Amino acid sequence: MDDSKFGKRDKRGHWRPDGVLTPAPVFVLPPSPLKFLKWLPNYFFPWNAFFMVTAAIFWFFLTPGTETTRTFSAGWIALVFARNLAAFFIFYGVIELRLYKLRRQESRFKYNPNFPADKKNTAFLFGSQAYDSIIRGVGTGVTIWTAIEVVTLWAFSNDYVPMATFRDNPVWLALIVLFVPVFHEAYFFAIHRALHIPALYRLVHSVHHNSVNPSPWSSLAMHPVEHLLFFGEALIHLVIFSHPLVAIYNLHSLALGAVVGHVGFDKIEAGEEGGLDTHAYAHYLHHKYFEVNYADGLIPFDKWFGTWHDGTRDGDEAMNARWQKKMERENARKAAREGNQA
Ligand SMILES: [Zn+2]
Ligand SMILES: [Zn+2]
Repeated sequence: MDDSKFGKRDKRGHWRPDGVLTPAPVFVLPPSPLKFLKWLPNYFFPWNAFFMVTAAIFWFFLTPGTETTRTFSAGWIALVFARNLAAFFIFYGVIELRLYKLRRQESRFKYNPNFPADKKNTAFLFGSQAYDSIIRGVGTGVTIWTAIEVVTLWAFSNDYVPMATFRDNPVWLALIVLFVPVFHEAYFFAIHRALHIPALYRLVHSVHHNSVNPSPWSSLAMHPVEHLLFFGEALIHLVIFSHPLVAIYNLHSLALGAVVGHVGFDKIEAGEEGGLDTHAYAHYLHHKYFEVNYADGLIPFDKWFGTWHDGTRDGDEAMNARWQKKMERENARKAAREGNQA
């Protein structure tokens, strides 16, 4: 496919899609019902519907029964870990293999023209972004995802927490399923914004930001504290009269859904004319510029807090002006401090 029909490359080879990134027409004023209806299928397809399917497969075929999960034992915990590990390698690996290893579409639709593997970087373990990300993703990522899932299954099967059923409470459970991405947006914006507080950033979140040019493996390249906060979102199901299947759906939308912002390509080509739009650009800009697009735009938090980057040159200018003002404020504060000391 010819990506110049869909966007422009600058002199350094960085590609930006045509058009303006806009938050979803859900929590906007004035309400725009027509835009909302047009957008609605995007809420389900492709990603959320896909995670509903993977969660159902996991729950019905790959999760031990309640008799087993009532007591902690190495056997079933190892099984839950193994299936999560397999999901990590299959889902991330397939995208990584096609786009970054085999480079099936070279750098067409790739925001950053460079491939991380082509350059050693001492910020990463073994100088490799991929190895570093896999070690972190498996070492603490899949482990903490599994630990939260194990505790959830154990708590539900012992009736330690209230559990809704699909027979008696179908509407309530359907509402929770619909609400999962909305809750994620609010929860993630809050923890992500907090992780950018300078001290927390240095200690914790900088690990994730080492990937300035992310690939799918980067999705779970996090400090263990960030993994805990990130997957901790799913513990909400222990207090809202939910169901383990819905908790697994929530975990998949985190563990597998993290890939959505880290594909590094705007489109995954399929054949000569078709392709899957990745919606990765907003979070790619966060990795490139750090202080924009803390959330993904389902709820327009970044618009409300003045940190939305819409992907255009105007967006660059607004970001630079904000940065300039921030530097002026900091310099004025520094000068005042030094004046007081003199
Ligand atoms: Zn990221
Ligand atoms: Zn960040």
